[in-house]
Amino acid sequence: MLALGVTLVLVTSNVMQDQARRDGVALARSIESYASGSVPEQAFTVGVLAPEDAARVTAQVDGFRELRRLRMWTVDGTLLYDSLADATGFPDGDRLDAATRQREPDAQLVTEVQGDEFGGTETTLLDVYVPVQHGGVVVGAAEVMLDYQGTSDAVASATRTVTLVVAGGLVLLWLLLFRTVWNASRRLQSSALENARLALLDSLTGLPNRRMLADRLERAIADSHATGTTVGLALLDIDRFKDINDSLGHDRGDELLEQVAQRLRGDLREEDVVARLGGDEFAILFPDVLSVADADAAARRVRQLFVPPFMLGDLALHVDTSIGVACLPDHADDGSSLMRMADVAMYTAKTHRLGVSVYSPEEDDSSPARLVLLGDLHRALGVDDELQLHYQPKIDLRTGRTVGLEALMRWRHPTRGMLPPDLFVPLAEQSGLIHDLTRYALRTCVAQLARWSEDGDPVPVAVNLSAHDVTSHAVVDVIEELLARHDVPPALLEVEITETALVSDPSRVVPVLERLSEIGVHVSIDDFGIGNTSISQLLDLPVHGLKIDRLFVADMAGNGREGSEVIVKAMVDLAHSFGLQVVAEGVEDAATAEALRRLTVDQAQGYLYSPAVPPDRLRAEDLPRDRGARHAVTSVTHESGRTPQGATPSDR
Ligand code: C2E
Ligand code: CA
Ligand code: CA
Repeated sequence: MLALGVTLVLVTSNVMQDQARRDGVALARSIESYASGSVPEQAFTVGVLAPEDAARVTAQVDGFRELRRLRMWTVDGTLLYDSLADATGFPDGDRLDAATRQREPDAQLVTEVQGDEFGGTETTLLDVYVPVQHGGVVVGAAEVMLDYQGTSDAVASATRTVTLVVAGGLVLLWLLLFRTVWNASRRLQSSALENARLALLDSLTGLPNRRMLADRLERAIADSHATGTTVGLALLDIDRFKDINDSLGHDRGDELLEQVAQRLRGDLREEDVVARLGGDEFAILFPDVLSVADADAAARRVRQLFVPPFMLGDLALHVDTSIGVACLPDHADDGSSLMRMADVAMYTAKTHRLGVSVYSPEEDDSSPARLVLLGDLHRALGVDDELQLHYQPKIDLRTGRTVGLEALMRWRHPTRGMLPPDLFVPLAEQSGLIHDLTRYALRTCVAQLARWSEDGDPVPVAVNLSAHDVTSHAVVDVIEELLARHDVPPALLEVEITETALVSDPSRVVPVLERLSEIGVHVSIDDFGIGNTSISQLLDLPVHGLKIDRLFVADMAGNGREGSEVIVKAMVDLAHSFGLQVVAEGVEDAATAEALRRLTVDQAQGYLYSPAVPPDRLRAEDLPRDRGARHAVTSVTHESGRTPQGATPSDR
């Protein structure tokens, strides 16, 4: 910009100077023509000017104010005339030569000092040699000295003005440009900052996101390799978050996530990294724990943070979590497998409802222990006495009568004892053995129904189907064939399908549900509320009942009662508006049963009434009675010695 300014000023001042000089030369030419008009041609030849001619010249040029001196030279440098009447003098030979030879004026600025050496004033003169021609021949030259001080002062002042204007303009321009560039760079900077923030932080909670966690994890692992410390990773998932979202609204859901983030962040050490992985999933990285047990203890402390209810407006909501823990180097030796192990552990915590679960190879698909168990299951499906169905009654909350049973699978493993379904059903699902297991359950159940039918009127029995079963019509064929073979009315068989299974592949599941409905087998949505689907999506399906997951029910007795009741009520009202029967699972105390009855829940199931028991240990009121006698039972009585309240399943 400085160079531009300097160039601009230089060019302008040169243009002005050139113009002034051209004007001076033009003036010198006209003075010459006035002067030489009075000089006879032969004066140049002889080198002498007559005094009267000199006087004429003086008179001719008298009127030119700018003229300081006029001298006339012959071509060889003889002085013909001097306006200052100096008889002697010499021309500037080179310039005289140049002017006469080139027939062009030669102009030069010269400085003249007037007065004495000290107090003198300097004046600038324009000294022009103008060739004098007579009849086309150059005969000499007129040296015209013009006062140039005024002009050069004017040029200098104009140059100063131009300089000022240019400098001012440029400063202004610079300021403008600077402001623009500054603003733009500020904007760029802040958007780069925001992008970086978005790239590494979760926008809702402000916690680190998955990427940042991965980065911290890598660093912690590098440290661990260097110093031999243990890295703990906990994955935490909020139970039944989707329903909180559905029944209370997404704003409340977001509010809850923010509060969870605050509790987690507020309670952990500075070096622990709390991240939100998306949805209701959080991760906590413990970069330096003493041992696996230490990480486990830390995770349990985290879970304790969820004991006080969360306040959403004036609603106290009790929220539970499932946490999976894995450690490096104990369970994994790199970041991604550590994540996977923690995920396996979280899945275990969730399905077994353990709260906190530390990774164990038993739960992992690829571990040898799993493969052994899978082989055992394969074998067990071929024998009669290992896999059994136990039955748990469903009670009508208005009459107290048993109105149905649920068949739950147990495995009497030859070396490991009685195994709960959570230990082998997921294994069967992952390995494809599930179809055989389902067929086994259906066969056993329908055979049992046939036996009971001989004794009287049995209540309907529900069998659990897995997600894999309901994507093909094969299961309906199996059911039809079994019912026909044992001559059991379809109304006695029901199926329960988990919420997540129902929505996993609707285009394949819905036709299967429709066929079940057509043949008269009722379908219930199981574990309702813990999946991540919206209630209305499920209610459009051809189903007859809905089983509220026991997590909600258990809560109704706890300190988050109010919130749970709101959610359960929302579910019940919506289900009823779609004509569905509502069953509450996991009812363990009379107060909860009473609360459920108030919320118009239709049926209840749980340890309050009875755990799942083998068919020969069912209570009298759960068993078929002589035809017509069932409706005589008016109240629920419990057999002595089996107090269902607080009971654990006797077979576990
Ligand atoms: P589910 O269908 O939700 O079954 C209810 C579970 O809750 C049963 O666990 C039952 O014993 C337990 N339970 C009942 N009342 C109470 C109570 O008051 N309090 C508590 N805390 N728990 C109660 P179980 O028998 O261990 O079954 C676990 C899951 O395994 C079942 O959950 C079901 O999803 C699956 N399952 C069981 N049998 C089969 C089967 O034959 N086929 C398939 N595909 N899945 C099965
Ligand atoms: Ca069930
Ligand atoms: Ca259930």
